[in-house]
Amino acid sequence: MTTVRTRFAPSPTGFLHVGGARTALFSYLFARKHGGQFILRIEDTDLERSTPESVNAILEGMTWLGLDYDEGPFYQTQRFDRYHAVIDELLDKGLAYRCSCPKERLEKLRERQMAAKVKPRYDGHCRGKNIDPNEPHVVRFSNPVEGLVVVDDRVRGKVPFNNNELDDLIIRRSDGSPTYNLTVVVDDAEMNITDVIRGDDHLGNTARQINILRAWGKEPPRYAHLPMILGEDGSRLSKRHGAVSVIAFRDQGYLPEALLNYLVRLGWSHGDQEIFSIDEMIALFDLGSVNKAASSFDYDKLAWVNQHYLQHGDAKRIAHLLSPHLGHLGIDPSTGPELAAVVEAQAPRAKTLRELAEISTFIYQDFDDYDAAAAKKHLRPVAREPLERMRAALEMLALEDWQPEMLHHQVDQVAAELDLAMGKVAQPLRVAVVGRAASPGIDVTLHLVGKETVLRRIDRALDFIHAREAQA
Ligand code: GLU
Repeated sequence: MTTVRTRFAPSPTGFLHVGGARTALFSYLFARKHGGQFILRIEDTDLERSTPESVNAILEGMTWLGLDYDEGPFYQTQRFDRYHAVIDELLDKGLAYRCSCPKERLEKLRERQMAAKVKPRYDGHCRGKNIDPNEPHVVRFSNPVEGLVVVDDRVRGKVPFNNNELDDLIIRRSDGSPTYNLTVVVDDAEMNITDVIRGDDHLGNTARQINILRAWGKEPPRYAHLPMILGEDGSRLSKRHGAVSVIAFRDQGYLPEALLNYLVRLGWSHGDQEIFSIDEMIALFDLGSVNKAASSFDYDKLAWVNQHYLQHGDAKRIAHLLSPHLGHLGIDPSTGPELAAVVEAQAPRAKTLRELAEISTFIYQDFDDYDAAAAKKHLRPVAREPLERMRAALEMLALEDWQPEMLHHQVDQVAAELDLAMGKVAQPLRVAVVGRAASPGIDVTLHLVGKETVLRRIDRALDFIHAREAQA
């Protein structure tokens, strides 16, 4: 049995789009599932539109997602010799020909065809003409003139194309550069790709590529064309809908495992299971369960998946990924408690690492103002005594006892002494320490903020209440 070999073949003309990332993921999973190899090929022959920044963005995105490739990156611009050798071979064998039709002729032809309402296509004028290689020319592939070419697609089933609707397409431009359909064919054949998985915008190209491969004497690979990804309004997913680049998702605080998990479900399903580890994806993925219809990108669902991983992932690893988000807010995480404890405490309240960082600033920095509603409700004169008692009790606590369990006990005790419900003590204390009425449990909150800061902030709250009393 031949070893499965798949490839991801992006053109480096922009960032790594989530659609591209999903194509890469499906190709990766298919290779891993079958014990095969996954290859990265950079299709950079469009010299005007390809940029090194885009190559870097693709490589960075692949690394961040953990989609490690076994071979490559191969660059098409380094393989021109091979493309020219194949073009010359096709010319020698009469499977391709030189065409010197001037632009004016092609334009007229096109106008005539449009007027007659037929699909514009080259009419084979230069076939068999033996154009002098020294004349300006392009090279065209001699597409079969009749019959059908059937794409036997693993997602779409059998899709027939009439050969008489396919052009004698240009495989080498007049400037000598090879074109997309030729370079892909040469690379897929010479890199021994067994399974091409790509977007269904390439379906028409596939018919052409099969014809070239067969003419050249190669067995075409198997194909699977993935349906498009749409925005919620039904148009093709683009920046208008929100983040679309893999790196933008990273910067917004999504975890790579969450993005992969979301992407695997976009157009593929396994019963109604939503959460898949990468190993499960590899074990369960199959092309037969890919949807035929386009799927729409649901940002809320991605946020839900991300929150799942924030809550259930390894807190130490998430802490490591959280660190730069705190850095962005001007916070040095080493000045605070162990970061994994912050993750564990805050993950239920955050959908992204960025949010997690934002709601955790109180641990590191004094807040400017109290949340007005929280202060109005909880920092009232009746809160003065509970806060004073808490301050006294906490001040007595030795640093080694500054642990959630002990802290909890102190709050309980003050509530019992004053014959108050625990909330009547904990809520003023929370607003005093956090600046607002939402935070993890009061014990964990006090533990994370630390003794010195807690005492200072209780004093500040007492001053606030005092000022309020004076005004009344
Ligand atoms: N380079 C092509 C693109 O980015 C993909 C080619 C392929 O997968 O065959 O659309």
